[in-house]
Amino acid sequence: MDLSKKRFKSDFINGLMAKRAKSVKEASAWDLYATLGSIVRGYLSKNWVDTNTAYSRIGTKQVYYFSMEFLTGKLLEKHLINLDIIEVCKDGLGELGIDLDEILHVEKDQGLGNGGLGRLAACFLDSMAAIGIPGHGCGIRYKRGFFEQEIVDGYQVERPEKWLAEENIWEIKKPDKSVEVRFWGDVRASSKSGSMEFIHENYEPIIAVPYDTPVVGHTNSTVNTLRLWSAEPARKDFDFSLFNKGNYLKAMEYNYLVESISEMLYPNDSHPEGKLLRLKQEYFLVSAGIQSIVRTFKKNKRPIEEFDEYVSIHINDTHPSLAIPELMRILMDEEGLGWDQAWKITTNTISYTNHTIMAEALEKWPIDMFKSLLPRIYMIVYEINERFCANVWKKYNGDWDRIARMAIIANGYVKMAYLSIVGSHSVNGVARLHTELLEKQELRDFAQFYPNRFNNKTNGITHRRWLLQSNKGLSNLISESIGTEWIKHPRKLRKLEKHIDDSAFLDRLYEIKHQNKIRLANHIKDIYSIDVDPNSIFDIQAKRLHEYKRQLLNVLNIMHIYNKLIENPNMDMTPRTFIFGAKAAPGYDMAKNIIKLINTVADRVNNDIRVRGKLKVVFLENYRVSLSQIMIPAANVSEQISTATKEASGTGNMKFMMNGAITLATLDGANIEIHESVGDENIVLFGLEKDDVLEYYNNGRYIPLDIYNSDVRIKRVVDQLTNGFLGVGNEEFAGIRYALTRDNEPYFILKDFDSYVQAQKRISVLYEDKCKWQKMSLVNIARSGKFSSDETIRRYAADIWNVKPINR
Ligand SMILES: *Cc1c(COP(=O)(O)O)cnc(C)c1O
Repeated sequence: MDLSKKRFKSDFINGLMAKRAKSVKEASAWDLYATLGSIVRGYLSKNWVDTNTAYSRIGTKQVYYFSMEFLTGKLLEKHLINLDIIEVCKDGLGELGIDLDEILHVEKDQGLGNGGLGRLAACFLDSMAAIGIPGHGCGIRYKRGFFEQEIVDGYQVERPEKWLAEENIWEIKKPDKSVEVRFWGDVRASSKSGSMEFIHENYEPIIAVPYDTPVVGHTNSTVNTLRLWSAEPARKDFDFSLFNKGNYLKAMEYNYLVESISEMLYPNDSHPEGKLLRLKQEYFLVSAGIQSIVRTFKKNKRPIEEFDEYVSIHINDTHPSLAIPELMRILMDEEGLGWDQAWKITTNTISYTNHTIMAEALEKWPIDMFKSLLPRIYMIVYEINERFCANVWKKYNGDWDRIARMAIIANGYVKMAYLSIVGSHSVNGVARLHTELLEKQELRDFAQFYPNRFNNKTNGITHRRWLLQSNKGLSNLISESIGTEWIKHPRKLRKLEKHIDDSAFLDRLYEIKHQNKIRLANHIKDIYSIDVDPNSIFDIQAKRLHEYKRQLLNVLNIMHIYNKLIENPNMDMTPRTFIFGAKAAPGYDMAKNIIKLINTVADRVNNDIRVRGKLKVVFLENYRVSLSQIMIPAANVSEQISTATKEASGTGNMKFMMNGAITLATLDGANIEIHESVGDENIVLFGLEKDDVLEYYNNGRYIPLDIYNSDVRIKRVVDQLTNGFLGVGNEEFAGIRYALTRDNEPYFILKDFDSYVQAQKRISVLYEDKCKWQKMSLVNIARSGKFSSDETIRRYAADIWNVKPINR
C-alpha cells in the first residue's frame, strides 16, 4: 500500500494518544505494539472488506481449510511485510526514537498448534492469500495454546500458555455470526408428508462465537479470513434460572463445561487423546464451521443443490472428519434433500489429507461415547457405513475379510480415516513416499476400491516467512543478485546457481550464515549463559520430540564423540555445537526421558574442560515458530533422521534447506524429494531405507543385543546410560536402555548407529572444505523454491478444489 512516512508518524502518534492516552515517552513496549498493531489493522481493513465483497460479487468458489490447529506464530511483522510498509514504519518509528524490533519482540506467538500439521495449515493460508485463492481457515480459538516448556533440572516442565492474557489485536469478535451447536439428547423419528423427519430433543445447546483474523496476501490487496470459534454458554438466562432455584453449582458447572470446549489445545502430536472433550471439540469445530458456510452460501440465493460448485471443504487430517456427517445432516434435516443427493454434494465438497501411516496415530472413537454425545450424527455415520459395506460387497462378493477390514464401524469403534476416505472425493498423502505407502500398504483396500481418489501433494512451506522474513541477510543478498522476482515466483531462486563458481558470492553467503550464527549464539548466551562458538558447525535438530524422529540417535552419537575425545583429547576434530529444540507431549514418558538425557549429556559435556572448544550441546527451551525463526537461519546441518517410512513428509527439512543448511537425512518423507532436487553431492544420506524397514517389519527379526554385543562403541554408550557415568541414578535412563535393546525395537536406532556415525564424519570432512560446503549450501537454497507452499497450493487448487487464483 502507499503510505508516506509523514502520514504514518501522525497516524502513530494519534493512535497512541487515542488508544493508550500516552505520549511516546510514557508508552510501554506493549503500548507501542498495540498501537502499531491497531494502525496496521486499520490499513488492511479496507482490503479485507473489499476482498469479501469481490468474492461474493464474482460468486467464485470458496475454499475452507478445516484444521484443529493453526500454528501461526507472530503476525505483526508479516503484515508489515505483506503490506509493503515495513521500511516506512521502521524509519518513521526510528524518527520517533522507537526501535521496531523491540516492538516486534513483545508480540506473543499465536501457538494454536502442536507442530508440523498446524504449521502446514498456517503456511497454506499464507500461500492462498499470496496467490489469490479465495481460501479461508476454520479452527478453534483455544484460550490456551500449546503449553510453554521450561527445563528444570533437565526435566521438561509444562506451564500454561497465556497468549490471550493481553488483548489480541488481530482478531475481531463477530457475535452476530454465532451459531448453536448441539450435544447429547435423543433423536425422534417422525413421518411428515410421507418423508421421515428426525428431531433432536433434550440436547445441550452451546453457542459458537466466531473471531476473525485477517490473512494478508503479499502485496496483492487480497485479505482472506481465519475464523476461529469460541464456545460460550447458550441463553444468557440459563444460569439465572438455575440460580433462582438455588442451583448455583449446577449453573457454574454448565458454564465450566461449555467453556472447557475451547479452553485448551490437546498437546499431542501424531497420537490421538481419545477423550470425550476432544470429540466435543472436533464436532464443535465442524458444526459451527459448516453452519456458517451454509448460511453464507444461502445469502447468495443459490439453490442448495449447487453447493458443491461454490464450496470446497478440506479436512486437515481426520480431526475435522465429522464435517462429512454434519454436512449430510444439514443437507437432509435442514435443507430437505434426500440421501443420494446429499451424499453426492457432500462427497463432491469434501477432500481429505492424510498425515500419517502410523497405526497408533489413527483416530477412532468408542461407539458408546460417539452415539450418546452425537446421536443424530451417529445415525448418519451408521447409514454411511451400511451403504458403503453393501457397495464393497457388490464388488467383492463373498470377501468377508475385506469388508471386516474396511468397515467404518467395527469392533466397537468408529474409524475416522475410513469415514474420511469414503465421504470425500480426494484423499492425498503429503509426500511421494507417504502416498505410495498409503496406496500400497496401509490403505490398499481403499485405493483398490477407489482407484481415482488417491493422489499426492507434497507439503510445502511459505518462503515469505521462512526466508524473506526470518533471514533478511540472505533475502537481501538474493534480491541483489537475481532481483526480487523470487518473492512471487520462488522457483526463480534457481538463478542463484549462476554464482556456483563465484567465490566472492560464496564468501558473502558464508558471512551471512556466520552473522545468523552469532545472533543465535547471543540468544543462547543471554538466556543460558552458555558460550557457543559461531565458528563451530551448528548442527540442529528442531522438531517435536518423538521416538520415530530419533533425537535419541543424535544423542548417542554425541556421547560417542565425547567418549572419543576423552580418550584422545588431542583428536583432530571440527568443532561442533549440537543444538536441540523439542517439546514432548506431557503424557509421553519416553519422550520426556529423552529430553532429560539430552540435558544430562549437555551438562556433562559443557562442563568438561577436556572437550572445551570442540564439543557443545545446547537444548533450547520452548521450541515454537518465533524461536525456529532464529534457529533455522543459523544452521549448518539439518538433522532429518527419522526411521524410514515413519515421517510422512516433514516441513522442517524444507525450511532448513531454504536457509542453506546441508541435510543429514534418511530416505524418508520429503527428504527423498529434497535428495532428488539437490543430487547425491549436496545432501548426506545414511541408514536403512524403506524396503529394509518394511522387510524387517514383515519378516525379519531385529535383535539389537547382537549389535550391542559386537560393537564396542555401542556397548559403551548404552552401558553409560545406566552405570553412573552421566552422574544420575542408574534407574534414570534404564527405560531408554531397555527400549533401545529390546527385540524388534521399531525405530532401528542401534541398527542405524554406525551408518549415522559415518555420515556425521562425512559432514565434518565436507565442512573442512569451505568452498565445497558453500557450494552445497548454495545449491540447496537455489533448489528450495520447489518446496514453497505456493506451489503446493497451486496443485491443491487445480487437482482437488477446482478453483483458480483471482487477480484483483
Ligand atoms: C516447521 C515446524 C515444525 C515441523 O517440523 P518437522 O521437522 O517437520 O517435524 C514443528 N514445529 C514448528 C514450530 C515448526 O515451525
